[in-house]
Amino acid sequence: MEKVVIIGSGPAGWTAALYTARAQLAPLVLMGQQPGGLLTTTSIVENFPGFPDGVDGYELMTRMQKQAERFGAKASFGIVDSVDFSKRPFTLVVDGEKVSAETVIIATGASHKHLGVPGEHELENRGTTYCATCDGALPMFRNQPLVVVGGGDSACEEALYLTRFGSEVFLIHRRDSLRASKIMVERTLGNPKIKPVWDSVVTEVNDVAQGKVTGVKLKNLKTGAETVLPCAGVFIAIGHVPNTNIFKGAITTDENGFIVPQRGTMTNVPGVFVAGDCADHVYRQAITAAGAGCAAAIDAERFLAAQNH
Ligand SMILES: Cc1cc2nc3c(=O)[nH]c(=O)nc-3n(C[C@H](O)[C@H](O)[C@H](O)COP(=O)(O)OP(=O)(O)OC[C@H]3O[C@@H](n4cnc5c(N)ncnc54)[C@H](O)[C@@H]3O)c2cc1C
Repeated sequence: MEKVVIIGSGPAGWTAALYTARAQLAPLVLMGQQPGGLLTTTSIVENFPGFPDGVDGYELMTRMQKQAERFGAKASFGIVDSVDFSKRPFTLVVDGEKVSAETVIIATGASHKHLGVPGEHELENRGTTYCATCDGALPMFRNQPLVVVGGGDSACEEALYLTRFGSEVFLIHRRDSLRASKIMVERTLGNPKIKPVWDSVVTEVNDVAQGKVTGVKLKNLKTGAETVLPCAGVFIAIGHVPNTNIFKGAITTDENGFIVPQRGTMTNVPGVFVAGDCADHVYRQAITAAGAGCAAAIDAERFLAAQNH
């Protein structure tokens, strides 16, 4: 029987592990299919406090793991297949084996949606990105034409943010109007640096042969015309999918699957807590995920203390 099981090993999971380990709860961290989480897929992280020269994403996550393990956190490569939160202790099925837990912290993150076009994946970290806040300030995007793909609030936010760095920002949208909130639409279309490209989709990211983004191939859905738009960066903002399928029916989520905490970080099931991007469709940063991991750990520790008295 584990006192605390943490599902996920991104910044939220390892921070929750650090705090619960220091509270002598010997948390078990189930690392899942992506040990270290999303940051392990990026090279330089420039906005995590404490690293004035930036830090490699993989190194940052390795350091978080080491720090939590120093205080007794246990790491396991397990993937959670299903959960039974209907009674305590909770049961998790991990790679076919049952694990019992007094409390659970869900930190399973979210995956970004991909365009699924040639060149997109090959040029990831070489001009293709899914996060303007994370990558927009990188030198390769400065004073260069940039492309944002999407038409919702996130795409508008990304485009507006990128006007600080790019020479111009092309907003590619498959329809002829944005589906973002009115205020965001006004701000976006009112910005002289943002140029909307309506009724169009990206069909290819160029240029894999050169090993960097040099432009995008576009198709106009109304006319069928194909063009190439030169740019140094493609920021894809077509949405995120939280990794919460296994909790369906057990944990309250919003219509997009993001977990909705009820009180602090506690979910609708007392004893089950949530942290990080699987409950956050707004900020989606390593530091906010880590902060939520800290909060979930403190909530879990207090929950256990209250149960034992
Ligand atoms: C390319 C890229 C660059 C980025 N750059 C930055 C940056 O510079 N600065 C910044 O602040 N943010 C950056 N981000 C965002 C940042 O990575 C995320 O906000 C952060 O990782 C979220 O942390 P998390 O712990 O909530 O989830 P994640 O890091 O996504 O971790 C989720 C964890 O859950 C595990 N998991 C999922 N399902 C299961 C399951 N069924 N069983 C067991 N485990 C499971 C996964 O294996 C993974 O370990 C970047 C993101 C990307 C994609």
